[in-house]
Amino acid sequence: MEILDKSLQLLKEHPLCDHCLGRMFARYGRGLKNEERGAAIKAVLTMEAHKDISSGGEETLRVLWTNGAYGPALKALVFEGREVSEQPKSCDVCGGVLDKLADAVKDALSQLSEIQWNTFLVATVGAESIMKKEEALAVNNGLEGYESIKWEINREVGKAISAATGKEVELKSPDVIVEVHPLSMTVSLNISPVYVYGRYLKLERGIPQSKWLCSYCHGKGCPHCNFTGKKYPTSVEEEIAAVLVPLAKAEGEKIHAAGREDVDARMLGSGRPFVMELLSPKIRQLDLSSAEEAIKEHSGGKVEVRGLKLVGKEAVSLVKGEEKSKKTYEGVIESAEDITDDDISILNSAFNGVEIIQRTPTRVSRRRADLVRRKTIYELKVERVDSKTLKFLVKAEGGTYIKELISGDGGRTLPSLSSKIGKSLKCKLLDVMEVEDPFESQGI
Ligand SMILES: [Zn+2]
Ligand SMILES: [Zn+2]
Repeated sequence: MEILDKSLQLLKEHPLCDHCLGRMFARYGRGLKNEERGAAIKAVLTMEAHKDISSGGEETLRVLWTNGAYGPALKALVFEGREVSEQPKSCDVCGGVLDKLADAVKDALSQLSEIQWNTFLVATVGAESIMKKEEALAVNNGLEGYESIKWEINREVGKAISAATGKEVELKSPDVIVEVHPLSMTVSLNISPVYVYGRYLKLERGIPQSKWLCSYCHGKGCPHCNFTGKKYPTSVEEEIAAVLVPLAKAEGEKIHAAGREDVDARMLGSGRPFVMELLSPKIRQLDLSSAEEAIKEHSGGKVEVRGLKLVGKEAVSLVKGEEKSKKTYEGVIESAEDITDDDISILNSAFNGVEIIQRTPTRVSRRRADLVRRKTIYELKVERVDSKTLKFLVKAEGGTYIKELISGDGGRTLPSLSSKIGKSLKCKLLDVMEVEDPFESQGI
């Protein structure tokens, strides 16, 4: 009778609801709810006490009513003609919130009905004060079979949502986490992002890849930025987001891409792989069929996307890993002096499978760490346009600074096209023609 004796001892000292009493013995008996365990204990204690009402049982019945809020104990007292004026007290551990679990379920179902989802998980948050009390109660009374309130809430709310919707709990990557706040018995939804993969083309110069805040006001808006808060009026990110965010009814987005081109470089060819992470989306089954056309139209033809598709979270690290992969560039070089045919043949043979050393360029050193990197130039071809102008094509390791490969950046990039022929060369125009596609190269 250890469970009954201990339970009565607990109830004499603490008001406990059925849930919290039952939870102290959660390990014992399978297929029972804690609420059922607690009520069963109170039922047997009530029966024993009623049987012995004249030999100490009355006191126990009063404990079961005032500290256990157990109705049958009150009825037994009244049946036996005892006067009862006390009212039951609220639970010492949970304050009575566990009796309102059904409210949390109702709240959750109503919020879940507003979004598209298939899998879910319940998480109890902000229950620390309750957990401290229950732990103290269990430890002080040597109750090793207790479980935490958060497991009870997670399980009971989870079962109720499953029963009402027919959908399953998913531990690893649920579409939505139902967060239960037990102190207020309210619910908030933490909706997992959806990820859209594609390749973007930037057909005009002067557009950054991601939103670029004004360096004077950092986004607040000031005369320098015409109160837009931005250094550039738009970006590849904003043009894509303008279509995908409303499509997913998302609250925001993040763009992840396989490197980035300079603001003044175009991104041509088959485009640069990217993943747009759509935050807190209400819609997950995105109809992307007209999104490509819509992005082209929204950007006025400045930005286009290809091959949009829904992907998993792992695509983010996949495209970011592609930052290092081979990229092909084309552009125009201007020379301060005339370029000879000898210069051209030197350049055409100097950078085929050559490693260069590149220190972070002066033009970006304010934003990037000052590092020395080794980069491989796989191929370089130049062609004359006129006496001081060349066209070029270069295949280089991702992350190579192409403008500095040409100019030498005052000796910070070595060797450079300038250093090879001893003339001052400048990259006048730059386009990215090809970026290896992680999905094609890895067969995903
Ligand atoms: Zn309780
Ligand atoms: Zn500003």
